[in-house]
Amino acid sequence: MVDTIQQLVEIESPSDVKAAVDRLGTVIASRFGELGGKVRVHRAEKAGNHIQVSFAARREHKPVLLLGHLDTVYPIGTISKMPFRVSKGRVLGPGVADMKAGIALAFHVVEALLHWNRGQFPRPLSLLLVSDEEIGSPSSRAITESLAPDAEAVLVLEPAQGSQGAVKTARKGVGSYTLRVEGRAAHAGLDFEKGQNAILELARQICALSSLADPARGVTVNVGRVAGGTRANVVPAEATAAIDVRVRSQPDAAELHGIITSRKPFNSHCKILVTGSINRPPLERSSGVITLYEKARTIAKELGWDLEEAAVGGGSDGNFTAALGVPTLDGLGAVGGGAHSPEEFALISELPRRAALLASLIERV
Ligand SMILES: [Zn+2]
Repeated sequence: MVDTIQQLVEIESPSDVKAAVDRLGTVIASRFGELGGKVRVHRAEKAGNHIQVSFAARREHKPVLLLGHLDTVYPIGTISKMPFRVSKGRVLGPGVADMKAGIALAFHVVEALLHWNRGQFPRPLSLLLVSDEEIGSPSSRAITESLAPDAEAVLVLEPAQGSQGAVKTARKGVGSYTLRVEGRAAHAGLDFEKGQNAILELARQICALSSLADPARGVTVNVGRVAGGTRANVVPAEATAAIDVRVRSQPDAAELHGIITSRKPFNSHCKILVTGSINRPPLERSSGVITLYEKARTIAKELGWDLEEAAVGGGSDGNFTAALGVPTLDGLGAVGGGAHSPEEFALISELPRRAALLASLIERV
């Protein structure tokens, strides 16, 4: 598994470089193809191609869908600064935990299941590896949403939570918005009264929007980037803010969206333009999710460990499938940490039992 992880990590695959993601997709497609999987390449124009692999089975049954992504947040060239390495029981490198180790796990689980079952699967299995998860899945969302309803369950190969390797039974929904204010430019000394200060208006909007946050209810609103104005002696005509919104429930998502998109200016001479949406619905801890978690927990217990569950703030493609009502269990990939940072790692000692858990889940869902 470590060799496979190394192979995948050393093929860099930032979301915004199609040729790079396609290179990784081609390698993975051919490895799954060698195992006898039927590969389908969903071609994308700007994003990398999305890779679907299907394995038929002896008996008719709804398939299990394994969901993952090929892309990482690390730009090309990162590998020379943080090369793949093995140190103190860890594998390190760009995208190692999120989620190249998850893809490697899936590969070796498929290989083992085929071996144990003499070349035939115990049940139909589909694997979808998308190319644009780290940028919100704009090009793959429709594919994920078209495959999920046919599946018995969706198992997501995102990294587990924390050092105990908890699976994720709830994820927040994520919205991203841009609020743009248009005011009127004027000379700050000669014509101050004629100007309408867009930055001032934006500042008041930021205070109002930030007050919508209610962390106890799981609602956060983060204005993460602002821009505006030209120079100190000009009343600014324009200012914008980029806003990240997180919610735990669908009603909160709808409410926040309504409030943000209907903002009115404090200064009636300024204009407000809001773009954006809740682009990932929340993954709610539904009864389908709980049932799936209980199954995973039973399997883990047989393997001698207590599998915990966690609720997290980050979204994944599991949010889409759960929102469609398809039982979804997330965080079945590697145990590690430091995702999206120079210290990203996965624990080697955890790989075997994560693989065993995933294999048994595929068999018994
Ligand atoms: Zn991920």
